Amino acid sequence: MNEPLPTGATIGILGGGQLGRMLSVAASRLGLRTHIYEPSTNAPAADVAHHTTTAGYDDIDALRAFAASVDVITYEFENIPTAALDLLEQMRPIRPNRRALATSQDRIAEKTFLTGIGLAIAPWASVTTAADLDKALAQIGTPSILKTTRMGYDGKGQARIMSPAEAPTALAVLQGAPAILEGFIAFSREVSVIAARSATGEVAAYDPGENVHRDGILHTTTLPAKLSPAQRTDAVLIAARILNALDYVGVLGVELFVTPQGLLVNEIAPRVHNSGHWTQNGCAVDQFEQHIRAVAGWPLGDGSRHADVTMENLIGDDIARIQDLARQPNTALHLYGKSEARPGRKMGHVNCIRPKT
Ligand code: AMP
Repeated sequence: MNEPLPTGATIGILGGGQLGRMLSVAASRLGLRTHIYEPSTNAPAADVAHHTTTAGYDDIDALRAFAASVDVITYEFENIPTAALDLLEQMRPIRPNRRALATSQDRIAEKTFLTGIGLAIAPWASVTTAADLDKALAQIGTPSILKTTRMGYDGKGQARIMSPAEAPTALAVLQGAPAILEGFIAFSREVSVIAARSATGEVAAYDPGENVHRDGILHTTTLPAKLSPAQRTDAVLIAARILNALDYVGVLGVELFVTPQGLLVNEIAPRVHNSGHWTQNGCAVDQFEQHIRAVAGWPLGDGSRHADVTMENLIGDDIARIQDLARQPNTALHLYGKSEARPGRKMGHVNCIRPKT
């Protein structure tokens, strides 16, 4: 697939959550269609996509029909079963590529990759048994964090260890899943860079945003981040190095810890990212359109920032604030159409914009 997709072409998206929803809206602005593949019913993306398939990742007929109906395949979450990807890949290009997915699905693969391209990360060791954990604690010390190697998100699959006595409890929380022990980083702030690479290898990065988490879930992203010019440049160079090393096509999120020794990479997400939602009201071309452009083989758009922005996630009961937020000036609401507001569930977000400083 070397030619840009023409308008009217269809982008297949694996996953029908809010990211798939916002990707579909961006695609439609460019005259492109999306076909969502999602196992659960009432998917947020189904409201706005041209077509939705509701089927499991083990449904071979549904996967084949999906691939046959689209021009290119992308995804909005990284835990897609390998067998489904093997089948889909035979029929249509998958962007970003399989290597990007495999690298980010597994913390050990991710850390090995990041170190291999010369980037700094927190000290870590792999842990499966109690004996591994004792050895890792002797090497890394406390405080530290035990994290499952796979399927972790929003702080799930993690246990903090403040002293070696807490090791058995932490291991029990993980229920025998393969894990890593990671040294606790006393960072001054957390930032992330959202960057994109086109099918022809151009790279563009958004300004880094500063993230604040609450209960393990992203609470706010604020632009501009408090970074020195050198740190800002470093953040962008780190993202570009990752994109090029993976021969990546699409948008990537890179989470970084700011420390006195420099920037450490926490993790990478091979997709549009919650900490990039500010771009919807802070840039001419947001992260969703940028991703669609890249996977469709189009040129990347202008992602320079024209405003200061604070993005706040609306989680669970926060949804009760929407009428009040809807009255505020310089405030853009983005709601995901989810009917049930469970605790911890991302219901929407709000971007508050201010003149650029
Ligand atoms: P993760 O799922 O790895 O992104 O971790 C979720 C959040 O936990 C991060 O955004 C940090 O706020 C915190 N965290 C994760 N790893 C570390 C670490 N090694 N040191 C300090 N805080 C961490």
